[in-house]
Amino acid sequence: MAKKIVEMEIEETIMELPDTKTLRLKWPEDYDPQFVTGQFITVYWPDTPKYKRAYSLSSCALDRGFYEVTVKRDGKMGTRIVDWAKQGDKLFVIQPVGKFNPVYEPQKHLICIAGGSGVTPFRGFAREATRRGLETKITVLYSVRTTTDIIFNDEFRALEKENPNFQFKVTCTRLAEDDPWSGRRGRINADWVKEFISDPAESVFYACGPNALVDNTEKLVLEDLGMPKEQMKTEKWG
Ligand SMILES: Cc1cc2nc3c(=O)[nH]c(=O)nc-3n(C[C@H](O)[C@H](O)[C@H](O)COP(=O)(O)OP(=O)(O)OC[C@H]3O[C@@H](n4cnc5c(N)ncnc54)[C@H](O)[C@@H]3O)c2cc1C
Repeated sequence: MAKKIVEMEIEETIMELPDTKTLRLKWPEDYDPQFVTGQFITVYWPDTPKYKRAYSLSSCALDRGFYEVTVKRDGKMGTRIVDWAKQGDKLFVIQPVGKFNPVYEPQKHLICIAGGSGVTPFRGFAREATRRGLETKITVLYSVRTTTDIIFNDEFRALEKENPNFQFKVTCTRLAEDDPWSGRRGRINADWVKEFISDPAESVFYACGPNALVDNTEKLVLEDLGMPKEQMKTEKWG
């Protein structure tokens, strides 16, 4: 079946960080799509219809009336969006697709491993679970260079307070030694991830972002931790 393509207006833009912007794309009237949290949309500008790029939804399936995507300044499309996209601009949007979806079963523990902009779909995972009051446990293990690189810090901290089954854990890889940050430092490694696995059989691992990051995480989960492939979901951005 042909994928539905719709022109949408940028209703709002939010600078999350100096190099990272969220676009809120307003659905036109009578647009009522079926989609699930964790999917991605594909967008293009009206003046360059052949140049299409995918973006994971950072909003969730309970958010109706708009899509949100959160984009880092990188490459042609990433730079155009972060530096130039403004309220009132129009983008063509191809309907959400993808299988990088949260398994919201009560006994499951979703361990979501992210670096940099790869955290975008996990906001959707945590938002939906919190609003629905689900028992599914979700832990986001997030690697950033410094504390100023944490995307959605305020929202993740608020979700943590609201939802006893959600945890947001950050590790910083390039902080100055005298920085007052009291949280973890260093890269994500098997020992750190292991601290969060209480029942291996019920753990589902997620990794999303640039290929190198996803490949490293896959190696960590499948080889270093010895988890079966069926318990891991990945989304490679290229
Ligand atoms: C399913 C999916 C979901 C995605 N979700 C997100 C998301 O939520 N947020 C997000 O920010 N991105 C996301 N992406 C990535 C996004 O689609 C774009 O690829 C990204 O914004 C870069 O834009 P571009 O492809 O036009 O870059 P391009 O211009 O094609 O460049 C691609 C890469 O090559 C590098 N590059 C380009 N030119 C040179 C050069 N001359 N020398 C060295 N390096 C160069 C760029 O820095 C960039 O890293 C997702 C991708 C996929 C497939």
